[in-house]
Amino acid sequence: MPPSKSKALSPLERSAAIIAQCTPLAQNYLKTIEQRQVSPSKTAIEALSGFDAPMPLRPPAPGATLAKLDALGSPATMASAAGRYFGLVVGGTLPEALGARILAASWDQVVFSEATSPIGVKLEQVSAKWLLDIFGLPETCSVGFTTGATVANFTCLAGARNALLMRQDWDVQKQGLCGAPPIRVVASKQIHVTVLKALSLLGLGTDCVEFAACDMQGRVIVDSLPELDSRTLVLLQAGNVNSGASDPIGEIAALAKKCGAWVHVDGAFGLWAAASPKTRSQLAGYEAADSWVVDGHKWLNTPYDCGIFICRHSRDIHASMATQAPYLKDGAIAAPKDMAPEFSRSARGVEVWAALHSLGRSGLTALIDRCCGHAQYFAKELEMMGFEILNDVVLNQVVATLKDEEHLCAEIAAYVQASGEAWFGATHWQDRPALRISITSWATRKEDVDKALAAIEAALQKARTNSER
Ligand SMILES: *Cc1c(COP(=O)(O)O)cnc(C)c1O
Repeated sequence: MPPSKSKALSPLERSAAIIAQCTPLAQNYLKTIEQRQVSPSKTAIEALSGFDAPMPLRPPAPGATLAKLDALGSPATMASAAGRYFGLVVGGTLPEALGARILAASWDQVVFSEATSPIGVKLEQVSAKWLLDIFGLPETCSVGFTTGATVANFTCLAGARNALLMRQDWDVQKQGLCGAPPIRVVASKQIHVTVLKALSLLGLGTDCVEFAACDMQGRVIVDSLPELDSRTLVLLQAGNVNSGASDPIGEIAALAKKCGAWVHVDGAFGLWAAASPKTRSQLAGYEAADSWVVDGHKWLNTPYDCGIFICRHSRDIHASMATQAPYLKDGAIAAPKDMAPEFSRSARGVEVWAALHSLGRSGLTALIDRCCGHAQYFAKELEMMGFEILNDVVLNQVVATLKDEEHLCAEIAAYVQASGEAWFGATHWQDRPALRISITSWATRKEDVDKALAAIEAALQKARTNSER
């Protein structure tokens, strides 16, 4: 029901009325999304032209803005909130995390400092403690909340750059990079593009990177590492976006420790493997690294714009992120604005807290295990269908191709996407075209996997028929 315009509402009564209008729209969206096709229909996409209108000269009738948003917007969404979305390495929002976002958005908090948002800072601190406990990392680590793993990587790498140059008596915050002593960057050949982007944003560029070769699963081969030293930044990953495999972090961190190199781990989705006893061993020794990144908005299933960085060396993060530069004792807590790139931002800790609180430790472990179980099942069924599974299915990722028909993979992915039954992408792995399926959503059930498998089987037939013509 659109908010009434019969009596004049106070400003915040208007906000409350809009929430009352919105709630049933959101409820209806979520309730019907399972029946809908995953990718939006062509009609829904075409109807988006309804937004191509000049900005209204005057405010429209009460309720008209949200009604239009729902009528044109909701059908044109990718149904990534539902269980049949297997794209990228993301998926779904936990119910309580969604509720927390809606409530926190009503609070309109700016998490700048304790003064501007006591609740925002409190829940970041509590979430930070819980995260360090889940990952088994020291309480003195600094934990910060960013828009995603890209900026979380950026933050850790800024801290590392600061530290590696400071050791060479160079204060990069003040002196910049012109004329700075060199630092070295050694990275997995498979390092995520966003880590390379962070390097270039930090003025280190990518030309200087010494890449280390990887095995067939995308893990760094330890023997292929160049000699490390105290001015080296080592970039590793927990969770390859294709195979799900993790680098031998502990082994490499031990080499790095001997010479004082800084080890950074991009674990955007893969670090969550640490939350289950069944998968934790894949990350063996990761606790010895210097900095880590994990996303809330991937496997923890918080809403988007939630990356998390963890760094053993609070002072180096503070030195590179502070707006004022007082001396920070190791382990001391500074205001959020002085520990991360952003100045004004939303209360991301609220959603992380709600996700963790609603799951509990057992629920978090079950989420990880359930997704990995679905991946095993997916792989087994695809094999029965004649697919070749290119990765060891050690986590939530399945990379599948066809023995003599690998050229059909892109077409199969496109057919499944167009069918609306499921959604995943095509990739290249071990130099072969393949399907890449990621099971990262709390909402995925066995029946969702079965639907996706049926859609793949139908697409396979169709692609074969086409290629015979
Ligand atoms: C998704 C991903 C990123 C980028 O994270 P955003 O949250 O999208 O910024 C970086 N590294 C890995 C391994 C990822 O999976």
